[in-house]
Amino acid sequence: MITRFAPSPTGPLHLGHVYSALLAHDMVAAVGGQFLLRIEDIDRTRARPEWEVHILEDLRWLGLSWPQPVMRQSNQLDRYGESLDWLQSNNYIFSCKCSRRDVINALAAPQEGSDVPTGPDGVIYPGTCRMKHATSSKDPSSEDVALRLSMSSAVGQNLFSFHETGHGPNGETGLIKFTAQDAIRNIGDIVLSRRDMGTSYHLSVVLDDAAQGITHVVRGEDLFEATKIHIILQRLMGLPTPTYHHHSLVRDDAGKRLAKRDDACAIAKYRAEGFSPSDVRRMVGL
Ligand code: GLU
Repeated sequence: MITRFAPSPTGPLHLGHVYSALLAHDMVAAVGGQFLLRIEDIDRTRARPEWEVHILEDLRWLGLSWPQPVMRQSNQLDRYGESLDWLQSNNYIFSCKCSRRDVINALAAPQEGSDVPTGPDGVIYPGTCRMKHATSSKDPSSEDVALRLSMSSAVGQNLFSFHETGHGPNGETGLIKFTAQDAIRNIGDIVLSRRDMGTSYHLSVVLDDAAQGITHVVRGEDLFEATKIHIILQRLMGLPTPTYHHHSLVRDDAGKRLAKRDDACAIAKYRAEGFSPSDVRRMVGL
């Protein structure tokens, strides 16, 4: 078994992350597997080296260890670019000029209020640029802001499935199945690369889980629906599908999900107050 903890260094490590990291670490320790760390720092506007330093320090303090070198996504952009080229040359992606505002405007007729259909990657794209490309050149232009997956080309007529050993937000567990039609309707043409980022979370997570030989992905149930995107991309690019273990989110006393910026639950705070690593373990129920 090989698993990983993949923090984004955009804020302090808090109790929610610690639960995920300890759970993954304990699961592999029980079977003599490997626990890897990966720094997901592709969002250069939010990721900060100082946060990375603090996160690693907190994880070590908790007693976790991992092999070196640690994979850092900002060093992998060439690899992501190669996969995007492959997807583009096989006509699985199209370039898109739509801003967020354009997408919302195309979806919501003003008289119908502001309800727009959303999926695991946010608002479901109405297909504006995909339809334009059906009748015009596919060469990217300087106005393009993103590359999107053409979901209908990506899924074909396939049936998809993955093994869930934890649970989704509605208790989904075991063999999870979904159809090509579900993906077209409920996920749509997701962004795989933005002009300012060169990749997206979905593309990089799938490529890196495969590159690191991850067999078990342990993470919060908020990513359960997004897993369907990952399964589609794995199948399209001929990559193996790991087993997934989604877990409940750690909530504050009022039942609210912990936010990354919520310093009240930052491990640094508990350390400063004299809590021990086992106190923190107990606080997250492990
Ligand atoms: N970097 C992601 C986060 O911090 C983790 C995603 C994953 O585990 O797949 O939320």
